Formats: sequence, C-alpha cells, structure tokens
Amino acid sequence: MKKIDERDTMFARMAWESNSDAFRDYYNRNPDKLEFDEELRTLPNLSEEGTATYDSINSRIVDGLFRFIADLRPFAEGEIIREPQVIDPETATRRIKEIARHFGASIVGITKTEDYHYYSHRGRMEKNYGEEITKKHKYAIAFAVEMDKDFINRSPQIEQTIETTHGYLTAAVVGMVVSYFLREIGYDARNHMDGNYLVVAPLVAQDAGIGEIGRLGILITKEYGPRVRLGVVTTDLELIPDISESFGVKEFCEICDKCSKTCPGRAIPSGIMGEIEGVKRWKIDQEKCYRIWRSLGTDCGVCLSTCPFSQGIDLDKINSIMGNTELMKEILEEHEKKYGIRNYMKEKLNIIK
Ligand code: SF4
Ligand code: SF4
Repeated sequence: MKKIDERDTMFARMAWESNSDAFRDYYNRNPDKLEFDEELRTLPNLSEEGTATYDSINSRIVDGLFRFIADLRPFAEGEIIREPQVIDPETATRRIKEIARHFGASIVGITKTEDYHYYSHRGRMEKNYGEEITKKHKYAIAFAVEMDKDFINRSPQIEQTIETTHGYLTAAVVGMVVSYFLREIGYDARNHMDGNYLVVAPLVAQDAGIGEIGRLGILITKEYGPRVRLGVVTTDLELIPDISESFGVKEFCEICDKCSKTCPGRAIPSGIMGEIEGVKRWKIDQEKCYRIWRSLGTDCGVCLSTCPFSQGIDLDKINSIMGNTELMKEILEEHEKKYGIRNYMKEKLNIIK
C-alpha cells in the first residue's frame, strides 16, 4: 500500500502561514491545489465568528479543549527512564490493555507495525515540515474511545464537536499514560495523538483488530460503529498482536449507502468500491468534507450519526452479517423504521443552554 504523505492532508495544508517555507514548497510542487486552498483560507475557521454554529460562549468550549490538547502535544515523546525490565509478552500485553481501559479506552488492540501505517513525511508543523519519517517502533497499541451518542446525534451542531474534542482529549490522555508507563519500565514509546501523529490511526487500528474501515473512510467498530476517536502508542516492548478479521463492514456498506446520501458536502462516494492505488476501498473527498467544516464551524459528523453501527446493532447479529445479505437488509430496515435516514436529535443539551 502506498504511504500517505501528511503534507497532503487538509489539516496540514490549512496549518501553514501564507508564504511560509512550507506554503511555498507545497504549492510549488502542487500548483493545482493552490486556488482551492486559498479560497478556503478566506472562510472563517472552525468555531469562529461567521460560521453557522458560532456562539460566543459555546464555541469557546471547543477552543479551550483544542488549546489544552495542543499544550499536551510536546509530551508525546520522552526519554526512557531506566534499564528495560524483563516482562513476558503475554503479561505485558494483558497489563497494557488493562491500563489503557482503566484510563478511558473502550477497545484496545495490538499489531506489529507496517511501513504503510506511517506517514511518509511530516507536514502539519512548520518546524518539522517535510521531515521523512524513519524512526519506527516494532509494535502499535491502538485504542478506541467511545463518544457519547446523545452528543454525536446532534451532528452537525456544536455538541458534536464538543464530543469529538472530548474524544481526542481522552485518547491523548490514555496514550500519555501508556507511553509514560512504557518508558518507566525501560522501553521506548510514542503517543500518536491529535495534531501529532506519525501514523495513520485508522490503518493501525484496523490491523490491530478493533474495527474495519467503511465507506465513510474511517474505522467502524463492532461495539460503537464509527462513534469513536482513535489513539495509538508505538513501542519496542515485545507484545502479542491481535488477529485482524473482517466482520463484513464493507459488504454491509455496499448495500447501505446511507452516509453518502446524508453527507452535506457530497464527499462520500456512493455505489460499489473502486480500486485505488491497488487497494479495493472507497475514498472520501477530503477537500469537499473540510469545506463543509469551515462553513459549519464544527467538524460536521453527520456521517457518524447516520451510520447504523453508531446507533448500536445487536452484537450477535453483527457477528453473523458476513455473507448474509438478508440479515443486512433486515438490520437496515429496522434502523430505517426506528430512525428514518438518521437519528437526528434537535433539542439542545444542557452543556450549551
Ligand atoms: S464529516 Fe460531514 S462533510 Fe465530512 S464526510 Fe462526514 S458527513 Fe460528509
Ligand atoms: S452509513 Fe452505511 S454505508 Fe456509510 S459507513 Fe455506515 S454502514 Fe457503511
């Protein structure tokens, strides 16, 4: 699989100052992207005045959370504290999973790292823009943090972004606890958290067996669907990888198609999977998606609330959907009867009123 260059992501492209070194380098190499990105830069940023969901008090909840998360980023890496302690892989795996769950992870999985898990180059911060990512650990601990259904079902209102930032923060804290612990027992470890990733979290999480990437381009877990935020810690401590097996998400997505219908940016493809760079998958249009974020002032999330897996499907049924089109149709009909095209909750939550 071709590695992703972080410089191509919208988050990186929107992070550079006009005419900075990063800006000049990128658009010299990608002149076709300049006009679109310059137009985006004229729009207000997320949670800024002028966006559809702006509120002088409520938008500050999101700003405060993002500022706090940004303050944590420098602690993603650190020194190994002491000589490595001997711990057998089975015990290490069990205890690390316990620690991650205790501090807020809902699902935890482990995989050996692959080259394609890592970005090829860094891109989001000017200070290390263009740095090739060469340092790689042997294992990755991936975890998902459940996001509150009542908040996500208010998408694309501000409750949604309050909850996604909450998810990013919890994932960052879990990653800090696990990576600090690993360095305490003598093993190098890095927390890959919001705004400071060296890895592409959904690819790692899929290989760690905690879910499967669906039509909407992000990880769908059996337990919470895509209503999760992901975190990853990489390390050289010997661990036991989990088995990654499809549970039928892609087949389900083939007949569902709901998120492509509700996406306000028309960013999610409909129809059957195509082959992109040798891999069968759907590819969302990140430019169209991000444009919607800039006009809403939130990170939208309509697709998260639309996905039937987010609303909870009986686990026994999920475990039997593989190759069972009739059961998939039955699940979709039940969902339609209960929620229509999606479960949208209008009434404001107390946190914002
Ligand atoms: S976040 Fe919104 S705009 Fe982006 S893909 Fe999901 S539904 Fe579409
Ligand atoms: S809404 Fe349907 S098509 Fe979209 S990701 Fe969820 S299951 Fe797949």
